[in-house]
Amino acid sequence: MTDQTQETQGVWTLAEHFEGTLKGVSFELLARGRKLADKLGTPLVSVLIGDAVGEDALMTLIHQGADAVYTVQDERFRYFVCESYAFVLSRLIEEYRPAILLAAATSTGRTLMPYVAIKGHTGLTADCTELDIEEATGNLLQTRPAIGGNIMATIKTPNHRPQMATVRPKSSRPLATDPNRTGEIKRIPVPSLPPQGTLVKGYRRDEAGSLGLEEADLVIAGGRGLKKGENFTLIRDLARRLGAAVGASRDAVDRGWISYPHQVGLSGKTISPKVYIGIGISGAIQHLAGIKTSETIVAINADPDATLHKIADLGIVGDAFQVIPELHKQLDARKGKTNGTYV
Ligand SMILES: Cc1cc2nc3c(=O)[nH]c(=O)nc-3n(C[C@H](O)[C@H](O)[C@H](O)COP(=O)(O)OP(=O)(O)OC[C@H]3O[C@@H](n4cnc5c(N)ncnc54)[C@H](O)[C@@H]3O)c2cc1C
Repeated sequence: MTDQTQETQGVWTLAEHFEGTLKGVSFELLARGRKLADKLGTPLVSVLIGDAVGEDALMTLIHQGADAVYTVQDERFRYFVCESYAFVLSRLIEEYRPAILLAAATSTGRTLMPYVAIKGHTGLTADCTELDIEEATGNLLQTRPAIGGNIMATIKTPNHRPQMATVRPKSSRPLATDPNRTGEIKRIPVPSLPPQGTLVKGYRRDEAGSLGLEEADLVIAGGRGLKKGENFTLIRDLARRLGAAVGASRDAVDRGWISYPHQVGLSGKTISPKVYIGIGISGAIQHLAGIKTSETIVAINADPDATLHKIADLGIVGDAFQVIPELHKQLDARKGKTNGTYV
């Protein structure tokens, strides 16, 4: 193994955006990165590859913790394309040699980071919940659940740089905004992409308007207890009303009731919303692996002995087909008594 640790500096976090608007995970990562950069006495840089992300938006990254923003912008980067983003990010790494690179464990981060790690011959720890600096060596300590969430494993990358990790969304809070913070915004020219570089002209969301599961504060998930695919409308309607994202158990996905991107669990997505509501889901260990970092877990299940009831903060023992209409009634009754948010 070659020692790549020499002459690297800086903690980098990857900012995410959608059509020019920064995503919340960009600021969560800055909170993580700030702590690490302060411990190492090194700058914190937010890296943004995109298109038409304005100066004001870039400044918010500085106001929320970054010392500098490095941005490469071009219409070819308006939407995430793994090969193009990886090409640019790898070029930046070669040129500026960061010690640490963090991305969110979102679809973008989970797709991009392995690609970049392989290109850079370095390691990657996915889905971290804790990050710290080892005092004696300055190495990044990357902690994540292992063996189905039964133990926490701490991983180091002692010989290769950058030390790369993806961080579970919602596992940290953004720092308070400080409008007096100043920092450099470095606009880096677009490196010439390989000729086969893809240009994505548009983007079709899965099931129009559905929120990203990993970013949502409220997730309503359905399982086999819904009996048939058409009944998922009940989940979608409730989710739309509450501004929630729609999740599902693997059983529901395997039956073709809903598409795979909605699957939550060991072989699906890991989510950490403020509130997770599981309806007609038993709470198999593989499902729990994806929801256990939710702040509040609510179970709606006809079986009082369902595992999900046992771990839930709040449980409704009842038939989903009666409970969901009752929830709508209760929400109707509260109309006008809230400011429109239920979480
Ligand atoms: C390697 C591996 C990976 C896996 N990965 C995942 C994963 O990522 N995600 C995942 O979810 N699973 C995963 N599984 C599958 C997992 O083991 C379970 O089979 C699955 O989670 C069960 O889905 P379910 O809870 O919808 O169905 P069930 O276990 O059948 O539960 C249905 C529940 O609905 C309740 N119910 C029935 N009727 C009603 C009603 N009218 N009203 C209210 N409640 C009702 C029942 O009481 C029951 O508790 C994985 C399995 C393996 C082996």
